[in-house]
Amino acid sequence: MITLYVLGSGSRGNCCAVEAEGVALLIDAGFSRREVDRRAEAVGLDLSRIAAIALTHEHGDHASGAAGLARRLGVPVLTAQGTWQRLAHKMAETEHRLLGLCSRAELGPFVIDACPTSHDAYDPLASVVRGPNDASVGVAYDLGRATAVVRYLLRDLTAIVRESNHDEVQLRTSQYPPVVQRRIAGSGGHLSNRAAAQLLAQLHHPGLSVVVLAHLSQQCNSAAEARAAVGPALRRVGFRGSIHVAHQDEPLPPIRVAQLHSVQYSLAL
Ligand SMILES: [Zn+2]
Ligand SMILES: [Zn+2]
Repeated sequence: MITLYVLGSGSRGNCCAVEAEGVALLIDAGFSRREVDRRAEAVGLDLSRIAAIALTHEHGDHASGAAGLARRLGVPVLTAQGTWQRLAHKMAETEHRLLGLCSRAELGPFVIDACPTSHDAYDPLASVVRGPNDASVGVAYDLGRATAVVRYLLRDLTAIVRESNHDEVQLRTSQYPPVVQRRIAGSGGHLSNRAAAQLLAQLHHPGLSVVVLAHLSQQCNSAAEARAAVGPALRRVGFRGSIHVAHQDEPLPPIRVAQLHSVQYSLAL
């Protein structure tokens, strides 16, 4: 089983972690060290168990706290090559390990795979962490478009943290200038609730037990609207797991990630 911690998600910071067998991996560190400390303590995540920090891309809402955390914890940072080139000047003594389409990483009980996304960052990634008992967690936000390679990476997961950024009508009628609206809705931007619902329905399979909707726009979305878009689409294809919505300002309670059949089996005992 993997425990998934979603410490926060949105345009002002993203950070989550997976933990199994006493080893934890932080995925993105878009909050200050103090804020990561506060949130980790609130949900019982022991930061001394963090063995590495994986970064999806260099934007501040994903990477601003990474250098300080990596130094303090004395752990390596896993990124694509281009992301590291953008961040290396802040990383001083920190060890870098390559993550990417042809660069699988191993860390304690975890195997981490990644692939490029079309977001407008230097070398952005979506990633999948596989752990004990076939449990797996995919993290894919700031997607731009759900490309074929992203859909392939995210197949057969137990849990998925997925961007559900905006409601398309709210974005079109928002105060954002047209150029910003086009950037958000374009292939270098973010996925809408409707696109997230379509993608999640495509990715559904009987073993999918946890969906976390993440990176919600504060101006053009709400938890209720994201749920209303995604929930029915997932139920229609037979999803029987749980749907969570990540918050910007507070962490979610820890989420147990196990294959649906093994959860049912253990409940039946
Ligand atoms: Zn972001
Ligand atoms: Zn970004």
